Amino acid sequence: MDVGPELGGTPARLLLVKLVRTRYQRRDGTLGQREPTRSQVIAQKVKMHQRLQTISLFAQEGKMGKCIFSFDKIEILNQKSDTNHSDNDWLCMTWSINDKVYSKPVSLRNVAGTQVLHSGDVLSPFQDYVVCENTDTVIVTYSLINLSSYDWGKQAEAAADFVKKVADTVAPIYLKAAVAVLAGVATGGLGTPGIIQAFAGGSVPLLDALSSKVGELIDTAFDEVITPALKWVAEFFGDLFGGQPNCNGEVFNDYVIFLPNQPQSDLHISKTYEGPQTNSSCGDTPHTKVDMTMHREWDLKTQADWRLCQHCHVMFFNGYDKKGVCALHWVSPITHAPLQVAHTAMDFDFVLPYGTPIAGQSDWRFCNKCNAMFDDGYPDKGVCPAGGGHMAEGYHFVLPVAHSPVEIISGQANWRFCNKCHALFSDGFPTSNGICPQGGGHVAEGYHFVLQNQ
Ligand SMILES: [Zn+2]
Ligand SMILES: [Zn+2]
Ligand SMILES: [Zn+2]
Repeated sequence: MDVGPELGGTPARLLLVKLVRTRYQRRDGTLGQREPTRSQVIAQKVKMHQRLQTISLFAQEGKMGKCIFSFDKIEILNQKSDTNHSDNDWLCMTWSINDKVYSKPVSLRNVAGTQVLHSGDVLSPFQDYVVCENTDTVIVTYSLINLSSYDWGKQAEAAADFVKKVADTVAPIYLKAAVAVLAGVATGGLGTPGIIQAFAGGSVPLLDALSSKVGELIDTAFDEVITPALKWVAEFFGDLFGGQPNCNGEVFNDYVIFLPNQPQSDLHISKTYEGPQTNSSCGDTPHTKVDMTMHREWDLKTQADWRLCQHCHVMFFNGYDKKGVCALHWVSPITHAPLQVAHTAMDFDFVLPYGTPIAGQSDWRFCNKCNAMFDDGYPDKGVCPAGGGHMAEGYHFVLPVAHSPVEIISGQANWRFCNKCHALFSDGFPTSNGICPQGGGHVAEGYHFVLQNQ
């Protein structure tokens, strides 16, 4: 519409007034409605604002990861409305994750700050996110709809109604789509860096393969449910604003999938959408150029209290009262019998990542007999100073690997796997390889690990 929110008031404000209007009893006993006072309007506005904030955090904001989807730039190449009028565009986003669906309509503004939009306008960037686990598949469907043929109050109502219908439709699709995603990435395994390799080795084919499976489901949903719903929404309120042609309807719709353990690097998408134009009075089909960014932020879980033992040089957990069993030989001066000695911490407090999809080697575990970190990836469990092989307990650690000598990684280098006892030990001492429970010093093999300390 050409008369913008400056005259009609923003949709949010109209809703607020509606909400806070209170009933009262007239002297003659009939019920009337009282207009809200200014302070009531403000109080309600604050409440509404708080609620929107809470919703957008999508439940608990604990120590978890996030999937962030940004519309960096939306450029209206050709508007949906006819040339005598303008667009009022609503971005309807629906996020699906596990058994939850979260949706919201957002009224878009151009960079000048107005919701009255014309061909050539560039819209203000918009971003939303959900809080999730690293392994969750997250699907975002988004539709841009023009509702300018309604007045502002009706636009808000129509957009809310549409977004609810999308949410109801997408929920069951998510379950099928998530299964397809899991099948697609199963080769790498979700707990391993396999997905990272899949991305590094050619992210596009993997995404394409998933898109063809999931896309069919979503396309069908749009064709069978969402597009009819949109048509209903666009035509529901018979009285159009100022008798203008009905140019309400879809500008574009699409979706993105955040894969489980998707790398944290930004994924940029640039597309030009051509939307449908069913009413010939509204002119050419709408064209919109959109730059988007997908960003997955991992929940990096770490455990502190890992220390270097000054005697045997292995990495052990220092968080318990008992400090495990060291390979240091100590003989009773009286009976000459061998005595068990606990590890003795020195230097830094290491913070080691577990259960996270970082690039590194998995299968590292805590031994509940000697308290050392050992590689549980072999059938043979090495040699434990407490006797027998090591015994795994607790978290599954993934240790960061130094890929090349020139790579700059913060942390301490020279941490290695001992091929005799299978423990993680520091190979950084110039004159000693520590004490291996197998006898002699440790013998390094395989990767060079670089570990963070506090
Ligand atoms: Zn020790
Ligand atoms: Zn052990
Ligand atoms: Zn060893």
